[in-house]
Amino acid sequence: MKIFVVNAGSSSLKYQLIDMENEQVLAKGLCERIGVSGAITHKAADGRVYSAETAMPTHSEAFEAVVYALTKSDAKVIDSFDEVSAIGHRIVQGGAIFKGSCLIDDKALNDIDELGALAPLHNPAHVLAIKACIKTFGKEKPQVAVFDTSFHQTMPEHVYMFALPYEYYEKYGVRKYGAHGTSHDFVSNRLAEVIGKDRKDMKIITCHLGNGCSITAVKDGKCFDTSMGFTPLDGFMMGTRTGTLDPSALTFIAEKENLTPADINHICNKESGVLGVSGVSNDNRDVAAAAEQGNHRAQLAIDMQRYQILKFVGSYVAAMNGVDAIAFTGGIGENDGELRRYVCENLAYLGVEIDNEKNTIRGEEVKISTDNSKVDVYIIPTNEELAIARDTLAIISK
Ligand code: ADP
Repeated sequence: MKIFVVNAGSSSLKYQLIDMENEQVLAKGLCERIGVSGAITHKAADGRVYSAETAMPTHSEAFEAVVYALTKSDAKVIDSFDEVSAIGHRIVQGGAIFKGSCLIDDKALNDIDELGALAPLHNPAHVLAIKACIKTFGKEKPQVAVFDTSFHQTMPEHVYMFALPYEYYEKYGVRKYGAHGTSHDFVSNRLAEVIGKDRKDMKIITCHLGNGCSITAVKDGKCFDTSMGFTPLDGFMMGTRTGTLDPSALTFIAEKENLTPADINHICNKESGVLGVSGVSNDNRDVAAAAEQGNHRAQLAIDMQRYQILKFVGSYVAAMNGVDAIAFTGGIGENDGELRRYVCENLAYLGVEIDNEKNTIRGEEVKISTDNSKVDVYIIPTNEELAIARDTLAIISK
């Protein structure tokens, strides 16, 4: 059985075709500049590559290009899209409505659309992609929605509420929803599996550190708290996002510079974080290279981000009254040994002891704590696409 996994943005579309017999990726690719011009880069598992510039006025043309790449191009991996059993969509915001993955029917599509108010950068693009799939593949092809927020639905009320007047929660649903849930669920599950314990009996902290970053406290097998909030802006400093800061800093700047809420949103989401502080890049590798050359702001950005990550980890140890295991994942979490060492060394009071040799390993599933360490620390590469494919299969098998 083959599952097609879609991660759609407003102008881009990432996809993977996964064979669920052996959970192997048959092909993956990316369509870019949808609505502007259009380009596809497609890679088959055996290394064959197909790339083309082709007009993509909407997501429908992008899916047509993907079908061509999968079934007809030099890098084809199937004869017909009929071989694909279902399509699994990554959906950023499921609000309080979606507690888990579900088949996309008219009602679900409408709900995802309405939740666009809470995720204006993401949900409208998902809706476009789902509608384009219906147009390209027909209504019979099952489509499943897998939400970034559903793993976080178990947060207790006192954890997800903001200390704003209660009416804003009642009127608009303003509260913490979290994000990256698919990844935190996958990684915490895998962590428990490799340690050989039941996740239900563990206190786990998962650190998903990529372009977007979040940390989650997983207690008794469920999400207890997570760093992202109402939107993926909350938490700690990321590539281009601020993370938590005093909101009055923003109202002050808005007044001084005559900025609208949309301007503030843009600055906080796209111009801040590691990029905003360093002035160099949103990519940690570039910033680390600049710091190495003596760039003070680059070093400052790195120091700030590490410190904020440590604070979140520490706060979740407090929130759960302890921690059994910590996992690092995402581009930074899987590759940046210096960051992991900094965090672990500052958790020495908990009995965390890092194996400096193992910690040099990159991007592999590996235990980086010593056998004496009171807390197990691992690198667990995330695989959100596989998690989406597994959920999709489970839903259509019901
Ligand atoms: P996304 O959130 O877009 O999926 P990734 O998980 O790929 O992003 O993470 C991207 C981040 O990972 C970038 O900041 C990049 O610099 C960082 N990264 C990738 N490789 C390394 C590395 N070898 N050392 C440090 N950081 C790395």
